[in-house]
Amino acid sequence: MKTEVAVVGGGPAGLAAALAASETVSVVLLERERELGGILPQCIHHGFGNFIFDRMMTGPEYAQHFIDRVEQSGIDVHTETAVLSLSDDRTLTAVSPREGIMSIDARSVILAMGCRERTRNQILLPGTRPAGVYTAGTAQRLINVEGAMPGKTVVILGSGDVGLIMARRFTLEGATVRGVYEIMPSPGGLTRNVVQCLEDYDIPLHLSHTVTAVHGSRRLRAVTVSAVDEEMNPLPGTETTVPCDTLVLAVGLIPENELSRQARIAMDGRTGGAVVDEHMETSVPGIFACGNVVHVHDVVDDVTVAGGTAGRHAAQFARRPPRARPRPIEVRAGRNVRYVVPQVLRHLDEDTATLYFRVQETEHRVVCAVVDQDTGAVFHRGKQPVVRPPEMVSLRVPTSDLKNVETNILVHVRKEEHA
Ligand SMILES: Cc1cc2nc3c(=O)[nH]c(=O)nc-3n(C[C@H](O)[C@H](O)[C@H](O)COP(=O)(O)OP(=O)(O)OC[C@H]3O[C@@H](n4cnc5c(N)ncnc54)[C@H](O)[C@@H]3O)c2cc1C
Repeated sequence: MKTEVAVVGGGPAGLAAALAASETVSVVLLERERELGGILPQCIHHGFGNFIFDRMMTGPEYAQHFIDRVEQSGIDVHTETAVLSLSDDRTLTAVSPREGIMSIDARSVILAMGCRERTRNQILLPGTRPAGVYTAGTAQRLINVEGAMPGKTVVILGSGDVGLIMARRFTLEGATVRGVYEIMPSPGGLTRNVVQCLEDYDIPLHLSHTVTAVHGSRRLRAVTVSAVDEEMNPLPGTETTVPCDTLVLAVGLIPENELSRQARIAMDGRTGGAVVDEHMETSVPGIFACGNVVHVHDVVDDVTVAGGTAGRHAAQFARRPPRARPRPIEVRAGRNVRYVVPQVLRHLDEDTATLYFRVQETEHRVVCAVVDQDTGAVFHRGKQPVVRPPEMVSLRVPTSDLKNVETNILVHVRKEEHA
């Protein structure tokens, strides 16, 4: 099969990318699940679309808006189709029960495979291996899609947004949530979710605590929780046994990048995703990436915007591949910045470039700045009352100023009094 643009993944990133590309070129959309929408069909809480639609929608409502448009767009959609391989010449191999093995020759490719959850093995959780230990996404799918209740007395490990939302979900379905345990000294999720999912339901949040053992033979009977020190090592003598029949692991998401590695795309060790420029193009010309496969986003609206950017530029590449790539400016993470996306700026063809970043630690009354690493010239400087690791910060930098940069720009965060 030949196409101008092939999109891998039919979540919000892939849907937005496919729609944007389909305005000018032919598009094939490949999704391994039976339904389009990615993770959203199982996220039945409100909290989606606040920025794009200026109203709070549920995940299925938000996804359906884009699915309806895809169905009317002429995009060639293949569900139950898993992409197995991708080469750097933009040839994909996919498999589906209806069509068997397919080879797809695309002029440009958009990677939108989302994330997967970290499991018990990845956090080396000791103890027995009884039934009753779930990742948060699996528990969410069981309750919201399959209509099955995983258990009645629940401990949640991890206070990222997924853990917080599941604490409320279990409570609303009649379970008792014994507590949310978080190894870090501050919550991992958005403040609005701490308030709306825990405080409003009197669910206790135990910071600087973790689960140190799992007990039970056939079914989970209890977990041991311990306080941890500043290096996150369990403190002997602080162990408490918490009886429960369900342990929900909400311990992080990992961008799903096997295909990116196969295509020898440069990866960013801090985000776990591909290095991209402001067009969402990776280090391999003609292969673009967007959404959670690039870095874990807080809100879906940003994913949709990134998908649109990838889609427009992938279509442009498919119509007319550029002869040469402009020299990149590297965007580096400075003081109290964990990572910045995009990691390179190459085109500077819009009035502004938006840089997304996360901080390493919470700080109050700060100045976020974008500077020329060589000359110290300041391109952007903005005050923020507070920055927190779970909350992505975005900065819009005028590109006219960046045109004189020789090598790198640096994003850093400093206390107001030191800025
Ligand atoms: C529990 C939970 C609660 C959330 N709550 C909110 C909220 O309240 N508000 C908000 O704005 N955001 C929320 N989010 C975040 C939001 O859902 C994500 O930002 C968004 O879904 C990411 O979109 P995506 O398209 O990048 O990835 P996904 O939605 O994960 O979609 C990726 C798709 O790619 C497919 N795929 C992967 N590999 C392949 C392959 N090899 N071949 C074919 N297909 C493949 C997958 O099957 C999947 O359908 C929440 C997320 C979770 C998990």
